[in-house]
Amino acid sequence: MDQTKNILTLVRDLFDVKEDFIPLHVPYLNGNEKNYLNECIDSTFVSSVGKFVNLFEDKIAEYTKANHAIVCVNGTNALHLSLLLVGVEKGDEVITQPLTFIATTNSITYANATPVFVDVDKDTMGMSPKSLIEFLEENAELRDGVCYNKITKNRIKACMPMHTFGHACRIEEIVDVCKKYNIELVEDAAEAMGSIYKGKHLGTFGRISAISFNGNKIMTTGGGGIILTNDNKLAAKAKHLSTQSKVPHKWEYVHDDIGFNYRMPNINAALGLAQLENLDFFLENKRKLAKEYSTFFKNSSVDFFEERESEQCNFWLNAIILNNKEERDSFLEESNKKGIMTRPIWQLMNKLPMYKDNFKGDLTNSEWLEERVVNIPSSVRALK
Ligand SMILES: *Cc1c(COP(=O)(O)O)cnc(C)c1O
Repeated sequence: MDQTKNILTLVRDLFDVKEDFIPLHVPYLNGNEKNYLNECIDSTFVSSVGKFVNLFEDKIAEYTKANHAIVCVNGTNALHLSLLLVGVEKGDEVITQPLTFIATTNSITYANATPVFVDVDKDTMGMSPKSLIEFLEENAELRDGVCYNKITKNRIKACMPMHTFGHACRIEEIVDVCKKYNIELVEDAAEAMGSIYKGKHLGTFGRISAISFNGNKIMTTGGGGIILTNDNKLAAKAKHLSTQSKVPHKWEYVHDDIGFNYRMPNINAALGLAQLENLDFFLENKRKLAKEYSTFFKNSSVDFFEERESEQCNFWLNAIILNNKEERDSFLEESNKKGIMTRPIWQLMNKLPMYKDNFKGDLTNSEWLEERVVNIPSSVRALK
């Protein structure tokens, strides 16, 4: 198809690399990474105690303007811990979106709760407040201020929307719905480091949120994640639970809860600190790439996924919307064969064997996007 050929030529031009293969997203490690890692090794503080860990937390809190930031070993366990912290218990239901990476859904299962699915908006790829309201009006009831699913009889304890590829979902409306039904809001902001919506960093709208610093995200600690919250008590409890719930003592091993070994090591935080110093450069660089993609796709029958008004997206992964599944499949086939890495959006969670029988609302938009959305190369481009 001519159109595919034009897109592939564009990608090659934009990245202007000699290698045959253009990856979807690779980390950019040209700042203080080596300096800080060396410092870390020289200090012998390579594990979860060390200056970089605390410094990284402070700097992320400062950047996101969250009152507290608590590091974790990865984004998945940051989500798991967040759910426990807001009081999700065995037998509860957590409302989430079916169009997401598996970790969102699995973190709910790790908390011994059941994910239930409501639809996303087509223009955000994130949870639709309208679908959420419709779902709750149809299936939920409040008894003594506690929200229950009338059909399954389970308590609906929390709601976990996700900001897909760094694009904000309609989070303010979701905040309002959750308040009305007394449901805790946990934002999966794993993909949203650096994304601003209405002047606020994503992940600071709900009671608690998690960001991921996996190697494929906009900035990386190798592996890592962080919890953001403005709640002092939750923050203290997060730190406690993530460090085996050890009670400070001069020598005794005293633990007062079933905690976790979830705290990020100093080595990873050292890497993260260096990455954070370059985050604004990454954002500028990626937003420029997105603009170039956007200009090209304006004259094409393929849609580029734009940011909405009042949004300053990190454009972690650029996304295009093909016209149907056949077009999508042939584009994926052709681009990957030609050495340009492209990937479809995730298969819907409710179609996976583990989650196929879970309670769900109407998922028309999720299905529509699942068949059409493809990510195209999005790495930070080296300065010439
Ligand atoms: C990456 C990601 C996670 C998990 O983060 P890890 O650090 O890889 O554990 C969770 N949710 C979403 C939506 C993600 O993209």
